[in-house]
Amino acid sequence: MRWLHACIGVSALLTAACSSPDPVRPVALARQAPTEQSATGQIAQGSPEQPEPTAQPMATEPPAAPKPLPPKSLPAPPSAEPMVAIRLAALPRSQSIVLKPSGKVRILQDGDSTSSAWTTQGNLSIRAVSNGWKVSRSGGGAPASEREFASGPLHLEPLSKADEIRWNDRDWPGEMQLHETDDGIDLVMRVGMESYLPGVIAKELYPSWTPAAYRAQAIAARSYATVESDRWEGRRHYDMVAGQLSQAWIGATDNAKANEAVRQTRGQVLVESGSVVPAYYSSACGGRPANAFGTVTDNPHHDIASVSTGDGAARKDGCCGGSSVASWKVVIPVSTIVSRLRAWGAANGRGDLAKLDALARVEVADRNAAGRPLAMRLRSVRGGDLEIEAEDFRRAINAAGDAKTSIKSCDCDVVIQGRDATITGRGFGHGVGMCQHGAEAMGRAGRDERAILGRYYPKASVVRAWK
Ligand SMILES: [Zn+2]
Repeated sequence: MRWLHACIGVSALLTAACSSPDPVRPVALARQAPTEQSATGQIAQGSPEQPEPTAQPMATEPPAAPKPLPPKSLPAPPSAEPMVAIRLAALPRSQSIVLKPSGKVRILQDGDSTSSAWTTQGNLSIRAVSNGWKVSRSGGGAPASEREFASGPLHLEPLSKADEIRWNDRDWPGEMQLHETDDGIDLVMRVGMESYLPGVIAKELYPSWTPAAYRAQAIAARSYATVESDRWEGRRHYDMVAGQLSQAWIGATDNAKANEAVRQTRGQVLVESGSVVPAYYSSACGGRPANAFGTVTDNPHHDIASVSTGDGAARKDGCCGGSSVASWKVVIPVSTIVSRLRAWGAANGRGDLAKLDALARVEVADRNAAGRPLAMRLRSVRGGDLEIEAEDFRRAINAAGDAKTSIKSCDCDVVIQGRDATITGRGFGHGVGMCQHGAEAMGRAGRDERAILGRYYPKASVVRAWK
């Protein structure tokens, strides 16, 4: 199961180095997230989903690690708007959390009645103390005051739905929750799907893009989030992170195009065979899409036609060919590539890579039906070969987080001459599902969101799940 290494991440990770929306596409499975650049840290604090092990442990083996959660099947379209829990940040325990609700909030804990809650307003500062939480309130024309709460999740509920809680210079809709974790505090917003989505697509797409691309993105993001919300229910205290391991989220937004696209597509999700599609999407596929299964997810239930390369039809007729990331080139010292591959190998259980020799050649060892690389072969100057999954190759090169020496996709060719490697490639991101640049090209050509989604999720139909 080598590809398990490959699904860890996201493809587009380095992309945040770019100035705009290009980048983020959802990625479900994230065993680790070495390059996530937001404050959200790593995604997988719960047990990652994994296929059931096929081999029975021998009686003489040491006790097995906790059994991984079985992979979750895809949900039917919900009949009511789901709530989603988004982790904004994983903070150190020592950090004071400074909040400014726009109106009154109720502060309470699991099992508390609203009548025993502390209803207050003004500036709040919350910190973890030895036996729970200390909440300090100031401003708002009332005397400063302080309350202590026991250990356990702390909830802050705005009394009015129209109110938001300001944190880190942004306004966040929904209820805020603080969860103690083994190594810190998770800051989580629990919010209705339709209130969540505008702040996703406002960040995912460029402001100049067409309303049709916005609507297609809204439906894809809603479908993806619906699957994630079902997937983690009762398993973890959040469904997604606000960042590149799930989808971007900037909280409340006054971006009219984003708000309108969500309003116009309210409740609409992509459905295949009665189940909601995990509608992964990517910045630019380079004309050669990837299959979701094995690239961004190892959940076999996600191996469905809508997010697979199917018959391998490459997207030759345009797609993102006219975009700024259709093709790219970067020159990286070979020694830098070797040291990054070694570091990635050491950190990811690939002892052979950790001892990689100087490189003579890097070539594509395997491709999917659309022609996108699946594996790269590394030939050392002494003649030995090692293989690495193509997405892992990208992840390894990009782990340093240096935009000038990163690669935008794994669909690339490497030519080594002297001390340098010249890497030419196509597209941006993991290439699964909707291609954002391709969607925008269709929008500019006058196509609507149904035509866009029909191209990128060819076996799915758009269904209005809730009103
Ligand atoms: Zn494309």
